[in-house]
Amino acid sequence: MSVLFDRIALIGIGLIGSSLAHDIRRLGLTKEIVVATRSADTLKRAEELGLGDRYTTSSADAVRDADLIIVSVPVGASESVAKEIAGSLKPGAIVTDVGSTKASVIAQMQPHMPDTVHFIPGHPLAGTEKSGPDAGFPGLFEGRWCIFTPVAGTAETALKRLRGFWEALGSKVDEMDAEHHDKVLAIVSHLPHIIAYNIVGTADDLETVTESEVIKYSASGFRDFTRLAASDPTMWRDVCLHNRDAILEMLARFSEDLAYLQRAIRWGEGDKIFELFTRTRAIRRSIVQAGQDVDAPDFGRPHALDKK
Ligand code: NAP
Repeated sequence: MSVLFDRIALIGIGLIGSSLAHDIRRLGLTKEIVVATRSADTLKRAEELGLGDRYTTSSADAVRDADLIIVSVPVGASESVAKEIAGSLKPGAIVTDVGSTKASVIAQMQPHMPDTVHFIPGHPLAGTEKSGPDAGFPGLFEGRWCIFTPVAGTAETALKRLRGFWEALGSKVDEMDAEHHDKVLAIVSHLPHIIAYNIVGTADDLETVTESEVIKYSASGFRDFTRLAASDPTMWRDVCLHNRDAILEMLARFSEDLAYLQRAIRWGEGDKIFELFTRTRAIRRSIVQAGQDVDAPDFGRPHALDKK
């Protein structure tokens, strides 16, 4: 593949930043990758893993002469990063991010961006429950969506260049406004994580009552929630605080629907329960048909007899 940007600065080198580094290198999308992260320990690890060509704890240094800057830090840190890099950005550079919330990131970053650069907020819908530079891997973005939430007046040429970058990683790119993004993500990602954190927390509180049986019998359903509930606490705290309105709206809807189900169970209304469970099963089928998951039973986990 050809070089798309002469120099790319990765600000933040956790799961997302390091996955980007792997792919940028593998696909030869730049001549130089500059890695910046705030702590010396993470920087050292990134260097040991060979994720970049140059390493620094100064975001301002990293962005000097960079043509593409990708900010991959918890959304609550967006403003401090924007302030730090603002004075060192090269005219014509594209600054993007990968944050899971968009209106808040725009509010934090846009005011600091000089008119000479193109600021294009983005969010790849790809990830795992792991964090840090060791968690990244090549191909994370393959076949996954990346959503841009451009601000008014964004140059079409810059959008096209950034789109080309994500498409080179194998992603499909969509555009929408930031408020819409935050609503959609509240239901498809934020609410499921909050429910998972909550149910695992409840089970943990009950652990004394059930005498460790929660862990022992976890494969009967509970285990599937623990993957989401093992996600990075800093990242998810920030998501909750920075998409508050949309999340509260979805939680209100969720509580209402839960009360409906609770009532149906209490009154033995089997038809209502069956109708809901049939509808939800069809949603799983459409996710598989859309290529967003595999059709393997139990999410493709190996089982004892598979090995024989
Ligand atoms: P991560 O693995 O925890 O890495 C976070 C990176 O940000 C590290 O380099 C860390 O630096 C740096 N950082 C943390 N706090 C900071 C602060 N206050 N100021 C400056 N830098 C800070 O995180 P990630 O999973 O890659 O997530 C990064 C972004 O991607 C988040 O905005 C998240 O919402 C978004 N995202 C995540 C996923 C996912 O599944 N994980 C998916 C899509 C989008 P040090 O280690 O040096 O402190």
